[in-house]
Amino acid sequence: MKNLIDRVSRIEIPTPFPVGNVNCYLIEGSPLTLIDTGPKTPKSLAAIQQELQTVSYDLSDIEQILLTHGHIDHVGLVANFVKKRAHVHGNPTDVWVHELDAEAVVDYEKYMDHYMVSIVKLIAASGVPKYESVMLAHERRTELFKSIGESVPTARSFKNNASFKTGIGEVTAIWAPGHSPGSTCFVCDEQQVIFSGDHILGDISSNPSISFDDSERIGMMTYLESLDHFSSREGYIAFPGHREPILDIPTRIETLHSEYDDKLQKAADSLTYNPQTIYEISRIVYGDYETNSLVLALAESYDLLRILESRTQAKLIKQNGVIKVIKY
Ligand SMILES: [Zn+2]
Repeated sequence: MKNLIDRVSRIEIPTPFPVGNVNCYLIEGSPLTLIDTGPKTPKSLAAIQQELQTVSYDLSDIEQILLTHGHIDHVGLVANFVKKRAHVHGNPTDVWVHELDAEAVVDYEKYMDHYMVSIVKLIAASGVPKYESVMLAHERRTELFKSIGESVPTARSFKNNASFKTGIGEVTAIWAPGHSPGSTCFVCDEQQVIFSGDHILGDISSNPSISFDDSERIGMMTYLESLDHFSSREGYIAFPGHREPILDIPTRIETLHSEYDDKLQKAADSLTYNPQTIYEISRIVYGDYETNSLVLALAESYDLLRILESRTQAKLIKQNGVIKVIKY
């Protein structure tokens, strides 16, 4: 556990994902608050119990859990807290999540079924080689995902601008869709800190394209628009869902915009008058990525192409169920 500012400490919890550890934040005072919990693995549970013990707390002492978004590396352990507190104190922990991510917490199985169907659709439309083995890997991944989460029927949902009492003062929920439909940053103006979840990360991408299916808005566009809500927060520190705090938020946002502009340019440059698949474009834009990054690379590439289509630089066509792109 690392003390960051008065009453706020970071707890790093291991995850089974390439991203590495996830950050949870303990806010001491009343009500005793935790921001995010980590995934439900024996290793993560042991880690968070051990860390809380160093300041003489138990899972049942946490009175309020605020969730930055519904992804499993951030919410999997919530049920353990809730059940432990209900057992010891007779009432469950207050758990809050944005209404658009609520299903992931309240009914995890149903959420996973929806999510995995949209990924299957994406893989099928992308023209990936060795389709069967990719689908097999996807099924194995689905099993892993299902095993590290648990529904919390008592979780409650909030809307944009909801406010919560914590030991460091009032915290306001600023809705920032993109990384997930209900992604939220919790802003404490009194302390000038933002618990930014996976919306603003220090040195890794936010993967803004994996949580919207193609009938909805383009995830990447939504994400970039949401970033701008925070570009005037000079002097604030962001405590992100992974890695180190971000001390200069406006500069980080500028860098993220220019990184996405570069990707968009790369995608535009790769277009030809011969039809190409999403998979082929992903190999040009993202290079020689590992197979466990395939879905992320396909999702981002598809978003880039849809943005280019909206700017009439590309034309997307469907041939035998596979999406192909040509230069417009
Ligand atoms: Zn995350």
